[in-house]
Amino acid sequence: MIIRCNECGKPLRTRMKQRYVYRESGLNSVILTGVKTFVCPGCRNELVEIPNIVGLHQAIAGALARKPALLTPAEFRFVRKELRLKGKDLARYLGTSNVNLSRWEAGDVPINPIADRLIRVLYAMKAVRSQRAIEPAKFLDGFLNLFDKLVSTKRPRPLPLEIPADRLAGDMATTTAR
Ligand SMILES: [Zn+2]
Repeated sequence: MIIRCNECGKPLRTRMKQRYVYRESGLNSVILTGVKTFVCPGCRNELVEIPNIVGLHQAIAGALARKPALLTPAEFRFVRKELRLKGKDLARYLGTSNVNLSRWEAGDVPINPIADRLIRVLYAMKAVRSQRAIEPAKFLDGFLNLFDKLVSTKRPRPLPLEIPADRLAGDMATTTAR
């Protein structure tokens, strides 16, 4: 099957990539390893094939929720989207205004460190509710320990992540195969 470039129509070449910066996530610090990409020989347009995007996004959000430092605006937005929450809904849960939340996510004003913790609590609640936490009590204690050590004064830096996208696909195959 020939896949054509959605920009210029030329047939794309497949390529295995050792390191692909997953900018589509809205984050610049996530690198996928072992992914197949489709590159256009004409306009250099590059598409990435992600076998298990749900699993990948869960892995990213899980790592961000456990980040031992404050979240960057892009990371905060990623976790919000992973929670399937609109800005106005999260703002209501956090007791702030939609405008304020937008400013946090745009990086115009620093994210309130309490909101940083609360979004992680919402993430933990969702993980427990959807039974993704194997040992819920231990899982929740992990968050308390994390909050205990979280330094709220340092300016946040993006968490570098390197995720083997091919291995995530394998995990998904075994979990859905029942
Ligand atoms: Zn092209």
